[in-house]
Amino acid sequence: MTERILVTGAAGFIGSAYVRALLGPEGPRGDGTGPQVVALDLLTYAGRRDNLDLGDRRLTFVHGDILDTGLVGELVASVDQIVHFAAESHVDRSIDDGGAFVRTNVLGTQTLLDAALRHGVDRFVHISTDEVYGSIPVGSWPETHPLSPNSPYSASKAGSDLLALAYHRTHGLDVRVTRCSNNYGPRQHPEKLIPRFVTTLVDGGNVPLYGTGDNIRDWLHVDDHCAAIERVRNHGRAGRVYNIGGGTELTNKELTGLLLEACGADWNRVEYVTDRKGHDARYSVDWTRARDELGYRPRRDFARGLAEVVDWYRENRAWWERLV
Ligand code: NAD
Repeated sequence: MTERILVTGAAGFIGSAYVRALLGPEGPRGDGTGPQVVALDLLTYAGRRDNLDLGDRRLTFVHGDILDTGLVGELVASVDQIVHFAAESHVDRSIDDGGAFVRTNVLGTQTLLDAALRHGVDRFVHISTDEVYGSIPVGSWPETHPLSPNSPYSASKAGSDLLALAYHRTHGLDVRVTRCSNNYGPRQHPEKLIPRFVTTLVDGGNVPLYGTGDNIRDWLHVDDHCAAIERVRNHGRAGRVYNIGGGTELTNKELTGLLLEACGADWNRVEYVTDRKGHDARYSVDWTRARDELGYRPRRDFARGLAEVVDWYRENRAWWERLV
């Protein structure tokens, strides 16, 4: 039987990559027959229709809000599964105004969970982030580590994770939570570090580096993240959290060096700016569970992936020009 999957936030960076993975030749049914995808997205500043192939007859795009109880109920009633990406996703915006983050990330998730329960979906994959754990100077967090988020963004994501897990424990809803490290790839909004630096450098501008540039992030290609989500959706266990990491750990300064080189620029193009408030020093997830239970491991080579992303932004100026 053809699966019907509701993908929220499907017009954003990771959601759209996931829809492409689901419907592409390497998707679950590479013969072009399935699954059927209902893509729900509010098209905020971060979402765009042209991130999706709207001509694909297996895809139905719905422009709407995950907070709209009526619409969400109608859509959830028509699907078997939900993969939930929709969120306010930028830490700096959450520092300026946390309200939209609580509404979308917490209340929006609860609206979807209620609908999932009412209509008895088979499973609900909730996409979260490593940022819910806080900051770790050395070592890596296992999934059992207590949550200690530091920004309004990560606090709202932690709230949504805990709600999702509570719907499993209280109601027995099949909820699976993923917590992934920093993603990079094409079609990421230029408010985020890699596209911001690339688009600024190719335009001849200077890039802002927070604080001393010593903050450490683990960079994972968006395609590796999407492949891991598919493993969780198909083979994960109800009520379980899966960390997804294993990318390339770099300080922001090291990453800046690589981006300067890729764009043919030098350190004169870097301006050190006042650090982000509450800037987490380092994130690192232990992804042993995803490896041992699901056979997950990242496949994309970082140097090659980064070079491809730089090329993508060079070649797709029309996609980002209006956003910078
Ligand atoms: P994004 O900002 O590119 O996309 C978010 C999408 O959600 C947009 O298309 C937006 O229009 C949509 N949206 C926002 N509010 C909505 C609402 N009320 N109703 C319906 N749609 C709405 O974000 P992203 O980077 O693609 O992140 C997707 C998910 O993955 C988020 O939940 C984020 O927390 C998580 N995540 C991101 C990263 C990363 O590095 N980008 C890492 C780990 C986890």
